[in-house]
Amino acid sequence: MRRLPIFFLLDVSESMVGDNHRQMQQGLERLVKALRTDPHALETVHLSVIAFAGQTRTLTPLTELAMFYPPRLPIGAGTSLGAALEHLMNDIKRNVIKTTPERKGDWKPVVYLMTDGKPTDEIKDAIARWNSYFAKSVTLVAIGIGKHASLDVLKQISENVLHLDASTDADFRDFIDWVTMSVVAQSRSVSTTEKGVSLAKINPDILSLVNDISQANKVDEDFVILNGRCQKSRLPYLIKYERSAPNFENTNISMGGSQYYLTGVFALEQDYFDLSDTRCLTRTINTNELVGAPGCPHCGNPYGFAMCRCGQIMCIHGDGPATCPTCEQACNFGPGNGQGFDVSRGRG
Ligand SMILES: [Zn+2]
Ligand SMILES: [Zn+2]
Repeated sequence: MRRLPIFFLLDVSESMVGDNHRQMQQGLERLVKALRTDPHALETVHLSVIAFAGQTRTLTPLTELAMFYPPRLPIGAGTSLGAALEHLMNDIKRNVIKTTPERKGDWKPVVYLMTDGKPTDEIKDAIARWNSYFAKSVTLVAIGIGKHASLDVLKQISENVLHLDASTDADFRDFIDWVTMSVVAQSRSVSTTEKGVSLAKINPDILSLVNDISQANKVDEDFVILNGRCQKSRLPYLIKYERSAPNFENTNISMGGSQYYLTGVFALEQDYFDLSDTRCLTRTINTNELVGAPGCPHCGNPYGFAMCRCGQIMCIHGDGPATCPTCEQACNFGPGNGQGFDVSRGRG
């Protein structure tokens, strides 16, 4: 039986932390469960999951649907889409069986690329390699998630660019069902068409085809993500702030657009460091622009936002001595001077 290789190239950068990440994780499980009920899909579909942030990892190599178990999606810093594309192309080259006069190879592979940000690395070479050697033999469906996705970059590598605007869990489930139905359609149409790609009918409330890139509006980043580390467990966590300015319409208060409000703190695993591109921590923000401070999601320390001299944000129990989990130096925390300080913010 010829295989239909389906690759999921998933953005797991810091900006995905929270709802998007959870929905993607649950979505993968929902997708596999639904696909397994389809006899055509069971016969041909092989799945691979590749995650990228600052670094790229193949979480699951091509595996037949019946044997596939959804991997846990990690989180990392950075959005190295260029490197992720190179990784994908190498995986395809290594694992997809080409048709030769002697044997029938795999069906034309389909890649679902999902990203919510802008590439933080150099991507020109990867785009050129894709378009010269892969664009004709692989179908790429690129999905930009939310309002910060760099649709213009996706347009350069795919004719099938979609924009997902899912605000609720139900919206995201609809989107996953769309992916499922598209994969099912692809598993049925492999033998009849080698051209084009079968995509399920689009629900215009959540998904739109991007035809004209000038329609895609550019929005300034309206969130700040900071990376902390637990003093006790040494595990990383992310602190997320959003510029969801309260409604001051009828007042004379000028916001100046420079304040960010705490929206969550998220415990991460050790593999965060493996997937991160440390060069990404370049921009800084003053703490005076941040409203609200979280506790530590790992150990429950009440202050998750203390900063060592080395620049690492860490958790502390209160004033007094502490040891930085990153540089191992002893520090002593006292009441702040109210001046605020600069911290590095993550990128993408
Ligand atoms: Zn802690
Ligand atoms: Zn330190």
